[in-house]
Amino acid sequence: MNTGNDADSKTSGPPAPVPAAGNFIEEIILEDLRTGKNDGRVHTRFPPEPNGYLHIGHAKSICLNFGLALKFGGQCNLRFDDTNPTKEDVEYVESIQADIRWLGFDWADRLFYASDYFEQLYQWAEFLIQKGKAYVCDLTADEIRDGRGTLTRPGAASKFRDRPVAENLDLFRRMRAGEFPDGTRVLRARIDMGSPNLNLRDPVLYRILHRDHHRTGAAWCIYPMYDFAHGQSDAIEGITHSICTLEFEDHRPLYDWFVEELELPHRPRQYEFARLNMTYTVMSKRKLLRLVTEGRVRGWDDPRMPTIAGMRRRGFTPAAIRNFCERIGVAKKNSTVDYALLEHCLREDLEQHAPRVMAVLRPLKVVIENYPEGQVEWLAADNNPNDPAAGTRPVPFTRELYIERDDFREDPPKKYFRLYPGNEVRLKHAYYIRCERVVKDPATGVITELRCTYDPASRGGATPDGRTVRGTLHWVSAEHAVPAEVRLYDQLFAVESPDDVPEGQDFTVNLNPHSLEVIPDARVEPGLAAAAAGSRFQFLRQGYFCADPDTSPERPVFNRTVTLKDSWAKIEKKQSE
Ligand code: ATP
Ligand code: MG
Repeated sequence: MNTGNDADSKTSGPPAPVPAAGNFIEEIILEDLRTGKNDGRVHTRFPPEPNGYLHIGHAKSICLNFGLALKFGGQCNLRFDDTNPTKEDVEYVESIQADIRWLGFDWADRLFYASDYFEQLYQWAEFLIQKGKAYVCDLTADEIRDGRGTLTRPGAASKFRDRPVAENLDLFRRMRAGEFPDGTRVLRARIDMGSPNLNLRDPVLYRILHRDHHRTGAAWCIYPMYDFAHGQSDAIEGITHSICTLEFEDHRPLYDWFVEELELPHRPRQYEFARLNMTYTVMSKRKLLRLVTEGRVRGWDDPRMPTIAGMRRRGFTPAAIRNFCERIGVAKKNSTVDYALLEHCLREDLEQHAPRVMAVLRPLKVVIENYPEGQVEWLAADNNPNDPAAGTRPVPFTRELYIERDDFREDPPKKYFRLYPGNEVRLKHAYYIRCERVVKDPATGVITELRCTYDPASRGGATPDGRTVRGTLHWVSAEHAVPAEVRLYDQLFAVESPDDVPEGQDFTVNLNPHSLEVIPDARVEPGLAAAAAGSRFQFLRQGYFCADPDTSPERPVFNRTVTLKDSWAKIEKKQSE
């Protein structure tokens, strides 16, 4: 460290670059490094329970844990916290790994499972029994809950609290051997029924569950509780900074109690940070699971879900999500982040990298009367004005085109610069056209096509005689365009805080009935038929879109990732006022 002392810096040479602290956890780590704690090691872990898909809140924790390891030259483990076989599944184990990799992080060969440690945890439980620090309790779950007391009422000791060590050992071994049915007995720590911290009032360490586990099969019929598994797993793996969300602050004394009482050689420390909450969405896995099982969405990877899998399908980039996590920072106080910030980070990335193409979502036919029938001109269209290296592609121009139905008005309002009878507009990459006549279905009065003329001297957007044309429209050749399905998404919930519901009602009352609109017959540039699933584009003037896994050359399918309009800038301005 540079102390500012001349003599110091002369003897030690130029100081090694020390990264600056970006948040309070980094400050703690820098201080630990300065004092030589943990032999200068930084070792974190991301500990998901495989009982659901990862969501954007988990992304915050992933970016934090893996990010700290990267920043301080340390390591980050992936550890599945798989202590509850009733809710866990290999489907989740696999999706979680895929999602973390997709986000751009790597745990190398450090993939672990709390279930790897079941035997060790069991031995530690026996050790506590032998120390007189744990006992087998025959009370029912209700009696235990009741006896625990409340914040204002102290707990009452279980009548099994003073069981002799030998009897506890015998019963615990028979619990393991499968002699007792579910729910008949538990192992509890013997700490302090009068503690102001409820977590210290003889918490349950093991419960009986005659249930196969996705990894250990039928080997166990007793399973450790989260609190009894977590800190010890950290200790086994040599974790230095065990970072979790604020709800676990009150569990920290218990975490430390186990480390102390088990006389563990390595002593990890737990630090808590504020979880991510976001407007217009829910982040509880239990609620997300309900949306899936009740068919409110099409699956965990529905593009409206706040899951990583859903966001990937929607067209989010890993860089946008990482950037978002960086911008929201790491704090000690809970808050809610505006969904618009996430979209803002996404646009920032897509604006740089997504190729521009033309797609007409709600087609209206245009016939250019003075353009030769059967003629095709392949015009050069630039792929990305932000990236000169992106080059151009040929797009076909023909006598019959489609434009967006919304880009024409028979009776234009004031300041309407798009197409209307007698007005001239520019077709992007092509020519000026003027609307001469409107053709309607005589029966319904619906406009079926526009008859237009073009100015051959305006090719490629050249202005023939300096006349001004204010509107520029996107278009596709009717002959060449490919029919496509386009899925437009809006917020999954209609209100900012979907978790706030009147008593007796359920969060699902806040679902947005218009969160998905399917357009079955859009028309896209011919090149888009071959778009690989997952490829992203800007549909000019429409937004960013991404080819869905359902896409095929016969039936291209695109998801709208995000619109072009950025509401974040406005929100930011309002906030600073
Ligand atoms: P549940 O929704 O079932 O309570 P969980 O969201 O805590 O579960 P875990 O699988 O235990 O799910 O989470 C793994 C890690 O991700 C934990 O360290 C947890 O603190 C962190 N995490 C979960 N949700 C968020 C969130 N919204 N913001 C930040 N971190 C989160
Ligand atoms: Mg959890």
